[in-house]
Amino acid sequence: MPKSKPLKQFSDHATSFENNAYAYPVVSRRSGGISLGVNLNPDKTCNFDCIYCQVDRHVPAAVQKVDEQILLKELEGLLTAYRSGTLFEHPKFHDLPEKWRGLNSIAFAGDGEPTSYRRFPEIIQAVIQLKQAAGLPDVPLILISNATLFEREAVRQGLQLITDDAGEIWAKLDAGTQDYYQQIDRTVVSLDKVLKNITELARQTPVIIQSLFMNINGQAPAFEEIDAYCQRLNEIINAGGKIKLVQIYTVARMPAEACVTSLGNHEVDQIAETVREKTGLQVESYYGN
Ligand code: SF4
Repeated sequence: MPKSKPLKQFSDHATSFENNAYAYPVVSRRSGGISLGVNLNPDKTCNFDCIYCQVDRHVPAAVQKVDEQILLKELEGLLTAYRSGTLFEHPKFHDLPEKWRGLNSIAFAGDGEPTSYRRFPEIIQAVIQLKQAAGLPDVPLILISNATLFEREAVRQGLQLITDDAGEIWAKLDAGTQDYYQQIDRTVVSLDKVLKNITELARQTPVIIQSLFMNINGQAPAFEEIDAYCQRLNEIINAGGKIKLVQIYTVARMPAEACVTSLGNHEVDQIAETVREKTGLQVESYYGN
């Protein structure tokens, strides 16, 4: 999957679709097919302000609050469209090659940090019931998270529901040092807290680490930073955490800051190889477009 020729659909991860406010289909390289996105942060608020974020915060949010009934109706409509095949009559998907047409995930991602949603476990439970009722019980839920709120009781409940349902937690880790982390993710939450949260979760269930590296003003991350990043991964492992996979990727869509550009394919592969060598983990690389 990672080395496939880029499809035009890869560059379109719009978090809106038709008249939907919360649920949207995308072709996801990292899921290996169709992923139905669920946006729990339509107001675009996030406790990170990543320099590479693709959410356009210059445009005011069209929707401020989550209406769960509407969200579930939208998702039900997409599941029905997938099952009936009408999804592939849509101009966005009509020329999608057969091998990308599997429905491989329902992903909680969207325009902010999904675990900050106040009814996080309740909506996870409702989505699990919905996919079962739609006759698609085996489609895994994926949570794409910056791991800042994992210590909250309600978030823990939601994480447990996802893992009990054979879903996956993809935890963001973009740095090995506090300074670089602050430069990239721009947040008041410390790197130590993120690492603690990831480690605690990884002790209970294998996690997937997703790490975006980029050029800043034309400069790729320093070797020392990648080395420190590998050390952080090893610390998680040495503390008893299980890391199922590390996804190394780069910018594939318009970033928040103009100083950010994609790494070349070779640079992405080099980082991936370094991580393999220094951690022994399974690593996949995903290129820019
Ligand atoms: S955590 Fe995600 S949504 Fe939040 S600023 Fe970073 S990339 Fe954007």
